[in-house]
Amino acid sequence: MATDMPKGIEQITCCSEPPTASRVLIEKAGKRLGLDDRAIEELVSPQEVILFRVPSKTLGKVITFWGVIALHNNARGPFKGGIRISEDVSLWETIELARLMTLKTAVTDIEFGGGKMGIRVDMPEMYRLLGRTGRDPEFEKVIRLDAVEYCTKPFRQLFTSHTYIPAPDLGTGPDEMAFIYNETLDPASVTGKPEGTHGWLPGRKESTGCGVCHITLRTLDMLGIEHKKASVAVQGFGNVGSNAAFYLARAGVKVVAVSRKGSAIYKPSGLTLDDLSHFLRLPENQEVPDYTNITNEALLELDVDVLVPAATSHVITSVNAPRIRAKAIVEGANMPATGDALAILEGRRILVIPDILSNAGGVVASMEEYSKSLSAAKVTKEEVLRTVQDVLGRAFEQVLEVSRSEKVPMTEAAVSLAVHRVYDAMRKRRMIWWA
Ligand code: NAD
Repeated sequence: MATDMPKGIEQITCCSEPPTASRVLIEKAGKRLGLDDRAIEELVSPQEVILFRVPSKTLGKVITFWGVIALHNNARGPFKGGIRISEDVSLWETIELARLMTLKTAVTDIEFGGGKMGIRVDMPEMYRLLGRTGRDPEFEKVIRLDAVEYCTKPFRQLFTSHTYIPAPDLGTGPDEMAFIYNETLDPASVTGKPEGTHGWLPGRKESTGCGVCHITLRTLDMLGIEHKKASVAVQGFGNVGSNAAFYLARAGVKVVAVSRKGSAIYKPSGLTLDDLSHFLRLPENQEVPDYTNITNEALLELDVDVLVPAATSHVITSVNAPRIRAKAIVEGANMPATGDALAILEGRRILVIPDILSNAGGVVASMEEYSKSLSAAKVTKEEVLRTVQDVLGRAFEQVLEVSRSEKVPMTEAAVSLAVHRVYDAMRKRRMIWWA
């Protein structure tokens, strides 16, 4: 068994990786492809991990940020992946997210590898340390910008050499990416840059949600459900969820429920574009007058054709998986379902379209942003979103073909395809030389 192999990272950190779906899926795919244990461990392990601690001068005080950069695999291209700011960033979570990026870039066949950066920021602690009370979005913005500015400065060379090309993720956005550009003055060293700045890409902002919508429509086709008769529930109304909901509603699909942290609305006849715009304008964490308010948990269990979890990780667990009533789940967030939940959903014949395929629109657009930054060529939003749909549509067909020929669920098929491509590149580059 691959799991019995000595794992270098676990030896050096003196702690073991918690059970992760990505490790199990890669091991399974590797076995199916006939790879040896050593090759499987190479595919699972990160190539490099940097743990750092950086002091910053924030609002007149010295604050120390801890963080991690996981460079998982660059066999197929530069390490690529977002910068996450959150209070629960950890070594293992960052490694798993980097691993998912390797699979995501491989399954969509774009020339990037997988990486990730996480900065641990506990906002309530920041309020306490800096003597603030109440909630102040401007204060939180300053903290996030400082965290990114101070924590990326020491790694300038990593970005300017295009070894690791960062992008936004949870807790970061175009403003933070502009700070990285200010440091490197190289438009190809970072993607997700703000509109109008050197090397920005029209359509980058909408690309992930647009891709999630496209994959949802393909899923409905696969299930033989007419778009105009279909119902969808979307959890999370940030960049991914809101764009997905708007594109789906514009495509004529009934978006019956949407949610954010602490608030969710439900309208069985389908939310209109006006309803969605109204929800977008309201602050989080409050009831929405004039609508049927439900909980985020109830949203996941609605009787809909497709459920799109687009908020955060591990919201579908072994506890609620038996109660999910959707015919299919299109994973908008990264890892919205735990490994145990995936097994239950498979047993219940609920179709799951994996995150590495359905939310890959952003990294496809990032590839466009990177290549256009290098060439200084300009493209329109329509061209970018067409590329996203073409690339994801092609990947969807290829994954479906593997799923049907190998008689495995879409998640396993996507990982198989990705593992095959990464392994092939590693062998050709003699990163795996013994096989
Ligand atoms: P975001 O911060 O813009 O939005 C997150 C949304 O989820 C917010 O509406 C928030 O209120 C909601 N939310 C947070 N916790 C919740 C909870 N427990 N229950 C319900 N709602 C909750 O983030 P985003 O960029 O939209 O990313 C969402 C997910 O998609 C993340 O898992 C991210 O890693 C993944 N992802 C994002 C992109 C991208 O391009 N932005 C690309 C690929 C994957």
